[in-house]
Amino acid sequence: MLLEHLGNKLQALAAADQIRKLRVAATAAAPTQILRGPGGSALELLMFSSNDYLGLAAHPALAQALAEGARLYGAGSGSSHLISGHSLAHEQLEQALACWVQPNIPDAQALFFCTGYMANLAVLSALGDAGAVIFSEELNHASLIDGMKLAKAAVQRFAHRDMVQLEALLAASDAAIKLIVTDAVFSMDGDLAPLDQLLALAEAHDAWLVVDDAHGFGVIGPQGRGTLAHFGLCSQRLILVGTLGKAAGVAGAFVAAHPTIINYLIQAARPYIFTTAAPPASAHALLTSLELMASSEGEQRRARLRELQQQLRAGLTDLLNEYPQLGWTLPDSQTPIQPLIIGSNAAVMQLAARLEQAGLRVPGIRPPTVAPGTARLRITLSGSHESADIERLLAALRQAAYEATHEAAREAAESSA
Ligand SMILES: *Cc1c(COP(=O)(O)O)cnc(C)c1O
Repeated sequence: MLLEHLGNKLQALAAADQIRKLRVAATAAAPTQILRGPGGSALELLMFSSNDYLGLAAHPALAQALAEGARLYGAGSGSSHLISGHSLAHEQLEQALACWVQPNIPDAQALFFCTGYMANLAVLSALGDAGAVIFSEELNHASLIDGMKLAKAAVQRFAHRDMVQLEALLAASDAAIKLIVTDAVFSMDGDLAPLDQLLALAEAHDAWLVVDDAHGFGVIGPQGRGTLAHFGLCSQRLILVGTLGKAAGVAGAFVAAHPTIINYLIQAARPYIFTTAAPPASAHALLTSLELMASSEGEQRRARLRELQQQLRAGLTDLLNEYPQLGWTLPDSQTPIQPLIIGSNAAVMQLAARLEQAGLRVPGIRPPTVAPGTARLRITLSGSHESADIERLLAALRQAAYEATHEAAREAAESSA
């Protein structure tokens, strides 16, 4: 019965072009990667799909720091943080992260988590008590949405970047505890939340602002200090979630906030308490990540990233002007996440397959990750891409646009004949 039930669901997904498949990568995360192709063959692909924005995931200094961490602390932590798994490396990393965010959140402490997904579950389930209200931006990441499902607080959604609606909801609420929750950089769109306006609203309405900076940490703001720094914010009403598996190149996440909030998470956050602490070696390696991110090398990688973004956007803009009939659009994004909206699931998957035949991997993103009718290529750039890589992507997209246009014209001619 179960297998039949699941089989039916899988068939429905297949009919809607929504089946997802795992790809096996045989080499480190880098612009050029070997993936296993059909029948187990090796495919060398130019990747525009990772969140390794600074190209640190395969950085030799980080691999070396990880090995050093393993020599110092072994392979695993052995237990949860509250039992005996909280190592010196975790402690040092939390202190370094606290220093990192204190210009934006005075007196902040930081708490390290195994993943960003768990950090978001922890913050929302622990702080979203019964009687509290969570005001949630509609494009929030799935991990925030799942955290809200675990919370006892009521949830009120506001439309993407709609400050007028949020203000009305806040003004109408008499909840004692109000939490505004938002991604800082929207993961499928690449645009920024208006954090300055959100914080002003939080202050005016005695609310707290929970910011998920998964895609801004290390990438945006002076020295890559993140989206809070980009906006120059400073407030104790901020609760920051940063992730350490994207620009920081390793794995894990942290929450930074007022010491009372951090202390409460240690007491009450089940995704913190009931899980084995991440390997201390990864925390040890992350100390090197933070140094690299803030160094002149980090600065160069961010500068390169901005140049590549401009090159890509200029090329795509020309392409869209040439092929307006395709209906593709390029939303405004000043981050390494550059979505090219295609529309239908079938069209985006066909385009992604074409690019792969040309040796390029750009993932097609479909509902339910994005709204129906807005399936897209999610192009992500890294500080280790070269200008020639962008040229290759643009040339392949141009070829695909040409073919798609001519196919559509041929189909129209055939159906009218
Ligand atoms: C990736 C991501 C997460 C989850 O972080 P992980 O460390 O990968 O679990 C949370 N929020 C946003 C916005 C993300 O993009």
